[in-house]
Amino acid sequence: MTGARVLGIETANRRAVRVRAQTARGLQTFEVERETILPAGAINSPQILQLSGIGDADDLRRAGVPVVHHLPGVGRALTDHVAAIVKYRATKDVSVARELTMAGWLKLGAEGLLFRRGLGATNFFEVGTFLRTRDSERIPNVQFEFVPMLGEFQGGTVRIEHGFQYFLSLMRPRSEGRVWIDGPDPMQAPKFRFNYFEERDDLEQALEAVKAIRETVAQRAWDEFRGAEVAPGPEVQTDDEIRAWLRRVAETNYHPCCSCRMGSDELAVVDAEGRVHGK
Ligand SMILES: Cc1cc2nc3c(=O)[nH]c(=O)nc-3n(C[C@H](O)[C@H](O)[C@H](O)COP(=O)(O)OP(=O)(O)OC[C@H]3O[C@@H](n4cnc5c(N)ncnc54)[C@H](O)[C@@H]3O)c2cc1C
Repeated sequence: MTGARVLGIETANRRAVRVRAQTARGLQTFEVERETILPAGAINSPQILQLSGIGDADDLRRAGVPVVHHLPGVGRALTDHVAAIVKYRATKDVSVARELTMAGWLKLGAEGLLFRRGLGATNFFEVGTFLRTRDSERIPNVQFEFVPMLGEFQGGTVRIEHGFQYFLSLMRPRSEGRVWIDGPDPMQAPKFRFNYFEERDDLEQALEAVKAIRETVAQRAWDEFRGAEVAPGPEVQTDDEIRAWLRRVAETNYHPCCSCRMGSDELAVVDAEGRVHGK
């Protein structure tokens, strides 16, 4: 059902029995016949559990929600592929930027829509790398996504220039954040905090990734294209300067997860089959 917002799940005898939702017809209640699957994503799944009284009992009391089941892990362990972008200008007019004129946008839009090819049929992340920044890693710990243009947000628009960017992200960061609710109103957005780089080693891996990008771009193959480094920029040189820059610019790679973590320990929310602990 589209345009419906789930407000909460009612339980009886430790089973989900009803789902309340705001739909085009108003407030509706759905009886559960077999089971309830809660696929509302890493931010809203814990929110709906918490609104339904399933979560850390102290947090629920603070939010004014009656406790149905104390499950302390709900909303904890929020993890994401933390990211940062290293940017360069190009000395030659070879980047995607040259296609992005007004006429170019029309052409690539039409080509993408009609024939499913060309720049309108790609997300521009044409080249990627998975690498190990240290020998102790058995499998890659960092991903680079390469974008053949430079785009800067400026006053609500994106200024596109000839250049290139390396979008770095950590594959297995250990920093954990949290999703929580402030009150019982289901129409109020949940709160969340990622705590990027709370674990010192995440910051060290990102530092190694920035250095690896600089090392790659310093190589001969880039000589005829490499312009000025825009970010972090030439003034950011020492490890501490790079760490400070990373802390300032770190952002999401849009992969939040783990806020209803699977497992069998005290902070696990679901079992290996995705069933909420506590039945
Ligand atoms: C810009 C961007 C780029 C990405 N690129 C990639 C990529 O290249 N590769 C990749 O693997 N992943 C990518 N991801 C991540 C991927 O999209 C997510 O990991 C994935 O969609 C998560 O799936 P999900 O079903 O858990 O949650 P979602 O896809 O977020 O689905 C949750 C759904 O629940 C609905 N919902 C939430 N609350 C309620 C409510 N109260 N009532 C009713 N419905 C509700 C939402 O409207 C949504 O439709 C990208 C994400 C973004 C934002």
